[in-house]
Amino acid sequence: MYENIAKHIQDNGGIINLNTELTKIITREHMAAGVVIKDKLTKQTIIKDFDIIVSTDNFKDMLASMDELPTAIKDNVERLEYRSTIFVYVEINPNSILNDQYCYVLEPKMHTGRYTNFASWSKDLKLSNNKDMLVLEYWCKFNDGFWNQSDKQLSELAINDLMIMNCIDRKDIYRTTIVKYKDTYPFYPLNSSSILDPIYDETKKYKNLYFIGRCGTHKYNNQDHSILMGLLCADRIKGDDSINVWAVNTDPTFQEERLVD
Ligand SMILES: Cc1cc2nc3c(=O)[nH]c(=O)nc-3n(C[C@H](O)[C@H](O)[C@H](O)COP(=O)(O)OP(=O)(O)OC[C@H]3O[C@@H](n4cnc5c(N)ncnc54)[C@H](O)[C@@H]3O)c2cc1C
Repeated sequence: MYENIAKHIQDNGGIINLNTELTKIITREHMAAGVVIKDKLTKQTIIKDFDIIVSTDNFKDMLASMDELPTAIKDNVERLEYRSTIFVYVEINPNSILNDQYCYVLEPKMHTGRYTNFASWSKDLKLSNNKDMLVLEYWCKFNDGFWNQSDKQLSELAINDLMIMNCIDRKDIYRTTIVKYKDTYPFYPLNSSSILDPIYDETKKYKNLYFIGRCGTHKYNNQDHSILMGLLCADRIKGDDSINVWAVNTDPTFQEERLVD
């Protein structure tokens, strides 16, 4: 899917810069004017001018890079927090008990919050070595004590969690791989609207600068919210000023919770 989207963009004259980090949004008189990007391979820094900028990059980092934001807003930006995720991938011999697609874990003795068994989603996700891949997720803050544990410690923690579940023998665990992913979840403190609303109001002053997406707007979006923001943003750019992209994902109820007849 992603390859097809990339091809569609390039076939229509678009340019995709891979291995490139956006480090700054340049603004002039409350208009977005361009970006500073860094080529991660050559380490070269380049300035590019743009008429319209749509950002799905980390909201906090992008706002912090903007020179024209008032100090009070910058103070609010500084208070935005994220949760990060450590994924412990565990290759196991196929297991008929751990056969959920994914399962949230509420057992206080365990440290993981959710495990996924990829083989339960699709037989195409079974590994070529006849093993199945589980992933156990651990949520923490970037660079805290939990995050800075060694791969060996995190691997032992995950294996210990699996032993507590009592659904798998240790001999059926083949190997583990650790992946740490910074800032996966925008974090809402109790007073989040008093922090975020002034920021959202300030960003609306930039008529050619759009923030969309999950970390891009600091909203705990599902994928459908994020895609909807993209579609609405496109309509807004095309001229429909009635659209308020910030209104996506403000439902008063949790949409995954439904009463089934
Ligand atoms: C662990 C996890 C599980 C999830 N499970 C589900 C689920 O089951 N169902 C569901 O609907 N949603 C799920 N979500 C949410 C869903 O993944 C997001 O809502 C969606 O991917 C957000 O899309 P996006 O385009 O805003 O951001 P992303 O998909 O995160 O894309 C943003 C892109 O911007 C890039 N980027 C960021 N900063 C920079 C920078 N400075 N320079 C250059 N590039 C940058 C990133 O590398 C990334 O590729 C899950 C999210 C996580 C983290």
